[in-house]
Amino acid sequence: MSQGIPTKAYISGSWSAGGGGTFPVYDPATGAEIAQVADCTPEDVATAVDAASEAFKTWRLTSPKERAAVLLRIRDGLNSSKDAIATILTRENGKPKGEAAGEVGFAGSFFEWFAEEGRRQYGETVPSPAASKRMVTVRQPVGVAALITPWNFPIGMIGRKVAAALAAGCTCVIKPAEDTPLTALAFAKVCEEAGVPAGVVSVLPCSRSRVQAVGAALCDSPKVQVLSFTGSTAVGKWLYQRCGSTIKKISLELGGDAPFIVFPSADVGRAVEGAMAAKFRNTGQTCVSANRMFVHESVHDEFVKQLAEAVDKQLKSGHGLENGVNQGPIINQRQFDRLVKMTEESIAAGAKVVRGGKPGGGLFYPPTLLTGVTLNMPVAKEEIFGPVAAILKFREEEEVVQLANATNMGLAGYFYTGDVSQAWRVAEALEVGMVGVNEPMVSTCELPFGGVKQSGLGKEGSLHGLDEYTHLKYICFGI
Ligand code: ADP
Repeated sequence: MSQGIPTKAYISGSWSAGGGGTFPVYDPATGAEIAQVADCTPEDVATAVDAASEAFKTWRLTSPKERAAVLLRIRDGLNSSKDAIATILTRENGKPKGEAAGEVGFAGSFFEWFAEEGRRQYGETVPSPAASKRMVTVRQPVGVAALITPWNFPIGMIGRKVAAALAAGCTCVIKPAEDTPLTALAFAKVCEEAGVPAGVVSVLPCSRSRVQAVGAALCDSPKVQVLSFTGSTAVGKWLYQRCGSTIKKISLELGGDAPFIVFPSADVGRAVEGAMAAKFRNTGQTCVSANRMFVHESVHDEFVKQLAEAVDKQLKSGHGLENGVNQGPIINQRQFDRLVKMTEESIAAGAKVVRGGKPGGGLFYPPTLLTGVTLNMPVAKEEIFGPVAAILKFREEEEVVQLANATNMGLAGYFYTGDVSQAWRVAEALEVGMVGVNEPMVSTCELPFGGVKQSGLGKEGSLHGLDEYTHLKYICFGI
């Protein structure tokens, strides 16, 4: 990427100071200020939406093959700037550099996937009931897409949304999370250098104090046809309601409360390996992180013993730019305080501390194992979003499936078993959008990511990801 990471907003193909001054971005590992970034206002949103609406008139008319060429240039730009983007991502988000680089590659994978998938947006020719008519369906882009993205995957979530939107023929206005705007601006720079036409992609950071007004401007604009959001359930509900006034299409990826179940027939070593990834990747700050870990009483003690050994041996906290670090800080004070309170209250209610359990320095929270967790404790009732493993014991399959489903959330679920019939039964019975059977890493561009219940609406990635950005038009010919 030429000339470093920008700090201005990217609106209609130009770098803009925005109308609201600037706001600070911090390194969560040190507390040091990294940059002052343009603070955009609802007026800036209007400018960006007007530009996106104008750009849509021509972008929609390009062929999927022409758009694919642009998408592949974005992928190439992400790959060639991987190191620079991963460095800034680590500095503002705190995740280890290796994970950050992996995330840039993950973002790129969606541009490659949708470059290909965009060319297969088939319609249908349907036999007519009347001899005098011919009937077809075609897919068309919906228009301007507003994309609101979170801090935990600052470029992964942008890539997953933008790639689908652009491939469909939509234009987009992105509002990144206030904790991680620099990675989003680096993405805008990649788009600029890849020759994305002005107005097709805009990136408007704003401070937490403006987020509601900026969000409202996106929801209320009649020129925005679809809103795609990844973030907390509370904000998702607010956006869903607010979009009612203009009947937008809406796609929501919200909170998770993933059950992680270890059955008696499981390979315990493999389940421990899976638990390490499902619980401690990204320091537990993912919506698909294992939240409630149900372990059968016959393998409970062995599982806990091996998990504690793995935590001691494998996890190293520190600044994400240091070699060997795989546990970063919690993103900000608000999230940190929430995690501390939830863990302290659970311990006070009787959870037993096997590892960790007390805050480290700054925003670092140590990998923590709690056993004897019961359903009334905060760590079993709320989304933990941190490196705290909450372990509960169970006896029967039917009981554990019922417990796993006793939540309003339904994003991911994991279980370990050596029994093929049980694998089918439980995979079908879990009320979630994605299931890992003897496997903790399920997310990939080829398969649909999304939840049920209050975990969201719609799918991202896969051949279904384009549906969020297209509508199916029926055309009837009288002959
Ligand atoms: P978290 O609590 O993990 O920060 P949020 O749901 O608050 O999760 O944040 C996800 C994204 O939603 C961020 O880009 C954030 O700025 C944005 N956001 C938060 N509140 C609102 C709101 N009222 N309207 C629009 N976007 C919002």
